[in-house]
Amino acid sequence: MASKYQAPRGTFDVLPGNAHARARVERAAAEIFSRAGYEPIATPVFEDTDLFERGVGRSTDIVRKEMFTFEDKGGRSITLRPEGTAPICRAYLEHGMHKLAQPVKLSYAGPFFRHERPQAGRYRQFHQIGAEAIGTDSPFADAEAIMLLADLLAELGVPGVELRLGSLGSPVARRAYLEELKAHLRANEGELSKDVRERIDLNPLRAFDSDDEGTQAVMAGAPTIVERLDGEDAEHFAEVRALLDTAGIAYEIDPTLVRGLDYYTRTIFSFVCEGLGAQSEVGGGGRYDGLIEQLGGPATPAVGWAAGIERILLALEEDEETAGRDAFLAVADEGQRRRALALASELRHAGLAVEVDLAGRSLKGQLKHADRVGARRVVILESEGGVQLRDMESGEQRPTDAAHLLEELGGAGR
Ligand code: AMP
Repeated sequence: MASKYQAPRGTFDVLPGNAHARARVERAAAEIFSRAGYEPIATPVFEDTDLFERGVGRSTDIVRKEMFTFEDKGGRSITLRPEGTAPICRAYLEHGMHKLAQPVKLSYAGPFFRHERPQAGRYRQFHQIGAEAIGTDSPFADAEAIMLLADLLAELGVPGVELRLGSLGSPVARRAYLEELKAHLRANEGELSKDVRERIDLNPLRAFDSDDEGTQAVMAGAPTIVERLDGEDAEHFAEVRALLDTAGIAYEIDPTLVRGLDYYTRTIFSFVCEGLGAQSEVGGGGRYDGLIEQLGGPATPAVGWAAGIERILLALEEDEETAGRDAFLAVADEGQRRRALALASELRHAGLAVEVDLAGRSLKGQLKHADRVGARRVVILESEGGVQLRDMESGEQRPTDAAHLLEELGGAGR
């Protein structure tokens, strides 16, 4: 029966069939983080609005259009977190992590919220996993961050992944470059889309991201920051590339790469999966050397990334999975139902995945249900302690001894 309520626009329910694939992604990420020493951190799903305005940047689409912002009962402006880096930097400062040995390496997973126009791969509540290395400007940290995400996508078997790499330079170099870019945009103002034209001063880099044909033609002849890198910026970028080369990670330099958040400096990167269509990025990130200072802390260089769990699942085209069961405990005799539940619990303690009938089905109904839940074997408890073991694949059934059930089912020590 359809209910009159539906999940809010741009959100979705994670149903059991889908939950297994999702858990596999989260587990793989948690393992990769733990092996590389990126400790888990969790921050609240809402923060003071000002944190994102300062951290993400007032000129970004996220802050201008996409935040779920509301006033709480105390009259404070609160925002559902649209991204994870600004909150983690807030926590880094709040808990004095700048006094620990640097860099502080952190990882996270959880829901994020952006009021975007929903489409395949774009939601208003989505889930990210991410990593941050805070307190180092070493290109080794950039390369390690990239390697972690490359490893995760490879381990999960995400097909057709490409890594795009760019550099935005330091803020000083970027400022000089931005003046040059603005001049180019102004000189071609007539051909630009309205949105880009209105933001020439506010955020000229976004013009590289435009879908508009006229704008794209203007941008084809625009100067790029990668061509303008010099001194330490150029050295840093060269070292990141050399480290990736040594590690055998393929990438393409994309001089027009931009990201939707203001805080990036130097390295930026994006992992795309062409099979995904319009929303082709599975994950990306970069260096954000100015963010912590921007939030009122000491100058603290850092690098990190986030990947979208839904995008990864879409790219994997995961079919619904059922977990499968080692056994189903059925009863041929009504008097055995209590024993069945106790025995199921015992077998579960030994590490087996075991289900038991909770709906008072007939034996035939129980066998049918055992098949439905993917049980490999059915244990049938008969009157007076008799036990039958049925192999669901072959259909073979034979009597067995209750005392040897655990061994028969391959529990403990298997
Ligand atoms: P960002 O935080 O914008 O750098 O995005 C990092 C990753 O999060 C992207 O590569 C996507 O995989 C994912 N992502 C961002 N926005 C959304 C969204 N609205 N819906 C689903 N995934 C998203």
